[in-house]
Parts: sequence; C-alpha cells; structure tokens
Amino acid sequence: MKGRFSAFGLLRRGVTGKAWPRQFAHHDVQPSYDVVIIGGGVHGLATAYYLAKNHGITNVAVIEKSYIGGGGSGRNTAIVRSNYLTPEGSRFYQRSLELYERLSEDLNFNVLFEQRGHMTLAHDDASLRSMRWRTEVNKFEGIDSEVIDPHQVKKLAPFIDVTTRPRYPILGALWHPPGGIVRHDAVVWGYARGASALGVHIHQKTEVVGIDVAADRVTGVETTAGPIATPIVVNCTAGWASLVAGMAGVRLPIVTRPLQAAVTEPVRPFLHPVVVSGSLHVYVSQTARGELVFGASVDPFSSYSTRGSLEFATGLAQHVLALMPSLKEMRVLRQWAGLCDLTPDFAPIIGVTPVEGFVLDVGWGTYGFKAGPVAGEMVARLVATGKVPELIQSFGLDRFDRGELLGERAAAAVGH
Ligand SMILES: Cc1cc2nc3c(=O)[nH]c(=O)nc-3n(C[C@H](O)[C@H](O)[C@H](O)COP(=O)(O)OP(=O)(O)OC[C@H]3O[C@@H](n4cnc5c(N)ncnc54)[C@H](O)[C@@H]3O)c2cc1C
Repeated sequence: MKGRFSAFGLLRRGVTGKAWPRQFAHHDVQPSYDVVIIGGGVHGLATAYYLAKNHGITNVAVIEKSYIGGGGSGRNTAIVRSNYLTPEGSRFYQRSLELYERLSEDLNFNVLFEQRGHMTLAHDDASLRSMRWRTEVNKFEGIDSEVIDPHQVKKLAPFIDVTTRPRYPILGALWHPPGGIVRHDAVVWGYARGASALGVHIHQKTEVVGIDVAADRVTGVETTAGPIATPIVVNCTAGWASLVAGMAGVRLPIVTRPLQAAVTEPVRPFLHPVVVSGSLHVYVSQTARGELVFGASVDPFSSYSTRGSLEFATGLAQHVLALMPSLKEMRVLRQWAGLCDLTPDFAPIIGVTPVEGFVLDVGWGTYGFKAGPVAGEMVARLVATGKVPELIQSFGLDRFDRGELLGERAAAAVGH
C-alpha cells in the first residue's frame, strides 16, 4: 500500500535495500458500489481520485479490461498545453494545466511535468491568421500565448530550417511558454496510487460486458467478474466509448480512429520546446532521456487496431526531414498506435445522458491526456453534487441536438 515518498525514505531504502511496497491495493470485486467507473486511463483514475479526495465518496470501483494505462493514457505523446481556440476550451485546459503544475506535490508522486514551451509553426497566411485569433482568445483568458516571427523560432529551436528553401517556409509561430510534456505512466500510476490510498477499488483484467438499465435509470453493470449493482456509471473508455455507451442504449456522435507515434534512439539534448507543424502534419519533442518523440494526425480510417503501419513511418520521415533536415541519420526505435474517439467539433463530451445515472467523459480524440486532471475534477463534482459545473456546461451531449457545436478543430487537429 501507499507509503509517502521522501528524500529520507529514498536514502533509507537505498541503504537497507528493502523492497518498495505495492503502490495500490488488490481487492475482490464487490457486489455493489456507489459509483462504477469504466476505464482505467487517466480520466477514470482522476475521476476516482477526486471523488474520494474532494467529496469523500470512496465506495468507488474503477473497472479496467486490460491494465491501467493500457489505452491511450499509456500510448500518448504527453503534450500538455492550454492555448486552444475557443474560450470554453482555453478556460478548461488552462485549469488542467494549473492542476498539472502542482500534481507531483498533490499526489506525492513525481509526474515529471516539464514546461519547456509549445511552438506551433505557421507555413501559410491562413495559419498565421488563426494563430492571431488564438492568441487574442488566450490572452483574454489569462493564458500566456503570442505569435512570434521566424527569427524568434530559430532562437528557440536552432535546428529548424527557417530559410525560404523548404517547400513550406516558416512564416511565424504560435508560442505558448507554459506548455510542455509530462510523464504519462507516472500520471496514471500517481492517480491510481492516490485513489487506492483513499479507499477506491481498482479492478484490472475485468471487462464490462453490459450495462443494466431499468426505467431509463442505470442499476448496475455486468462484468467478466460478475454483476455489480450501482446507481452511477461513468464512461471513461475513450476509443471504446461508443461501444460502451451502446450497452446503455446511448448513441454517441463519435468515430474511433487509430493515432500513431514513434520514438528515436536517444541523442544529446538539442530541442527544448515541443514543435508542431499543422501543415506538415507532424510534431516533435525530446524526452529527458534524449529520445525524439514524433507524432502526426490520425489514420484516415476507422479501426480498433493498434498496429503501426509502414505508410505512417515513411510519411513521418518525409515531414520531419522537411522541418529538420539535420535529423536524416537518426534511427527510429519504435512505433505504436492508440485509439482516438473523435467528435465532429474536436471538443469532448462530458456530462449527463438521457439514461439517469449514466455519465460521459469521452470524445477525447488526440488531445485528452492533458485534460485528465480537470475532467476528473469536474466529473467528480458532477457526480457528487448532481449539478453540471460551469466549466463543462458547453461540453454536454445535447449540444449536438441543438446544433451548438464548438469548433475547436483549428487548435486540436495535430497540435494534441
Ligand atoms: C499516439 C497518441 C498520441 C497522443 N498524444 C497526446 C498528447 O500529446 N496530448 C494529449 O493531451 N493527448 C494525446 N493523446 C490522446 C490521449 O492519449 C487520450 O485522449 C487520453 O489518454 C484518453 O484517456 P482516457 O482515460 O479517457 O482513455 P484511455 O486511456 O484510452 O482509457 C480507456 C480505458 O478503458 C478501457 N476499456 C475499454 N472498454 C472497456 C470495457 N468494456 N470494460 C472495461 N474497460 C474498458 C480500456 O482498456 C482503456 O484502458 C494521444 C493519443 C495517442 C494514441
């Protein structure tokens, strides 16, 4: 079980060689819980943690069909930022960034959040225009964000070719100093450890195969470990969200598409900020170990497969070399894929459904890891109080019935 990490504890274990304790407890599945959360990614675990910590609701189960972080939460490229396009999005992600800034302290678990700055390159006038729009929205919301010129780009990332030689020369960039990268597995484990210490049960290798509904109300879930009675079910299953919602008879405007990423061999540190190019469909950051992490936009088809493809690797290499020609000798070590649950407006779906007690925290597309803390905090508040918090009121499922879509695409498609 959870023990407090400290410099003294580290020294003591180093000297005594005593093994570290289990970081979260194992329990048998109980016949009933006050809240059942489906999905042991950052969203499910953060929701469980804030339910217990902020509201004292601890009779909670997180049901995970594989292992915690086995979905998108353990496969993403861990970019955290808040420079979105809509006021609703900017405000929401800014709250998450603030929670990330103190997460290591809050969880007593180092999540290695490095605010190295996030730079989105503009290769045409249309991109520059939308970046100016973004900075205005961001500044209004108190978010540090500005448009910079190619000289400033060169200063911040000297290896980028800012001459007029490339096919898509760089005209400027959106610069967001508080953005950066975090260690995704540490975030998942930190929340699991914190939730477990407060009494939450985490059941891995347990799949939800049905949701019981009677008179338009949730009454329980069917799992591979038997039935569980519960009045509240929270769907935190990202790439599988529409399949799980279908079990409760709720249809979601979501398509699932794979998103691939790749990592190179480690080299000496040379790239400080995260660099994104929407026009080239590529982004890159350098980890503390020196590896370069590359990503792109989603595969152009729906699928539940998490296999990498040769098309991705060759396309990625072309785009990276257009941006940083000096990387031509670098070797890619690994590539992988995860599933993304995309909504038509590139904004999430959080809130209640026509089935009472069935709550959604889905539609995270390629950008949901950074939202884990704030979504967990807000969904926990919704479950505890029965009221939709103001910060997530625009993200309800009913916006699609009313035709009030949010339009976050320009800030979310490749930027992650
Ligand atoms: C390659 C890649 C790069 C990305 N980069 C970024 C980035 O830089 N920044 C960012 O913010 N976001 C990024 N994302 C998106 C981000 O990873 C996801 O939006 C986020 O992790 C979703 O978290 P989650 O907890 O909602 O879902 P997940 O972490 O996917 O967890 C859902 C869990 O539900 C479980 N599950 C599904 N069905 C069932 C069932 N029936 N019963 C029980 N369990 C079930 C799954 O096994 C899974 O573990 C990226 C995604 C990918 C794939």
